[in-house]
Amino acid sequence: MKIQSTRGTYDILPDTCHVWGWLEATTRDLFRRFNFKEIRTPVFEKTELFMRTIGEETDIVSKEMYSFLDRKNRSLTLRPEGTASIVRSFIEHKLLQENVVNKVFYIGPMFRYERPQAGRQRQFHQLGVEIIGSDNAVADIEAISLLKSFFEEIGLDDVKFRINSTGSFESRPRLSKTLKGILASHIQDMCADCRIRYEKNVLRVYDCKVKGCQDVIQTLPGINELLEKDDIIHFTEVTKGLDALGIKYKIDNKLVRGLDYYTRTIFEAYSDKLGACDALAGGGRYDGLFQELGASMNVGAVGFAVGIERVINVLNTLNNLPAESTPDIFMIGSAAENSVLNLELIQKLRKSGFSVEFDLLSRNMKLQFRLASKIKAKVALIQGEEELKNNKIKLKNLALHEEILCDSDNLINKLNEILKYNCKEEGKDEV
Ligand code: AMP
Repeated sequence: MKIQSTRGTYDILPDTCHVWGWLEATTRDLFRRFNFKEIRTPVFEKTELFMRTIGEETDIVSKEMYSFLDRKNRSLTLRPEGTASIVRSFIEHKLLQENVVNKVFYIGPMFRYERPQAGRQRQFHQLGVEIIGSDNAVADIEAISLLKSFFEEIGLDDVKFRINSTGSFESRPRLSKTLKGILASHIQDMCADCRIRYEKNVLRVYDCKVKGCQDVIQTLPGINELLEKDDIIHFTEVTKGLDALGIKYKIDNKLVRGLDYYTRTIFEAYSDKLGACDALAGGGRYDGLFQELGASMNVGAVGFAVGIERVINVLNTLNNLPAESTPDIFMIGSAAENSVLNLELIQKLRKSGFSVEFDLLSRNMKLQFRLASKIKAKVALIQGEEELKNNKIKLKNLALHEEILCDSDNLINKLNEILKYNCKEEGKDEV
């Protein structure tokens, strides 16, 4: 019986891995410019970490966690998201200091037991950032503007934002109480999930997709109408900053997110090109989370996570994926010639920075040329007996079908000229 990959997971094959490499390199370069440092946490954690932070009644915790008992009967969970682990790590390693802001990013796999469909896998990947140590609105602006820049950098200019404020850590209990009061006469007619949400985190009622509940939600006030003065001031500062930066957004007063730890600003980035699963990224502020996990001080924090598969999907729809790089040089030779002398030259060229391929099946020269074209090598080099005798090498520009005879000593210069590189004995800079 053939063993196949697990439902909801998939392989990223060599013909697409370069897209991932490009996306990660672009991300790292952008995040460096915003002065974010990378953090890597384990892919599994104690189950309790996610239950306490994301919220026991959320879909992620109640239905979607990959939890298992290890050999010592401890309950562990494959991380469904990145923030909880980072907060745990910051507290554990005592990285929090008064008046110090830490800006970190992560890239890696996440796991949720969801029904697999387009845009939803059980193992998927996120890249995300956390700005830890500021409750100032300017940190929210920094996060959203970084997210906007990320999309621009990879060629997605028309990603849209919806944002909302859900009340601060301190004012949330009062906001929830008011909302419960408004809902009291309707809640018996709402779905079982909503009745649980009513008790545990009433704001999440806004997220219910059940038709009957939707009718009630329609009649509810927007969350903005329930906010206290300080929350309104904070949110206004955020929107003013976004306006100043020319970042377009839609305020959605009934937007809530599927994780309980969010406070104040929340946001989603979405694309019209994705259909039902249109969210490319989500994020927000989580000012109560550090205390919830035992930090000895109040820590304001804000972050976001981007779904990498969905981003690649949109780029693919737009035909905007980068092309794979192809070898610079294909070394052609007969079996005998492909032995020591050619191998030495190949090694020298690779050390200089050129990418070089050659035939590992000892095929005839015609088939080798065919292979060179197939893999889109830019130049073929032929070092036959005749050339060797005269200290020359034949160089064929495969794109232009031009052939020249070159002095062996001048080979690197000639290749640089043709390939528009600046290779020396070590390293290569493209011009
Ligand atoms: P969240 O952590 O739920 O705020 O999700 C952030 C982003 O991760 C979403 O906007 C999606 O782009 C992506 N995402 C979440 N769940 C999945 C999934 N099951 N499969 C693929 N992408 C996902």
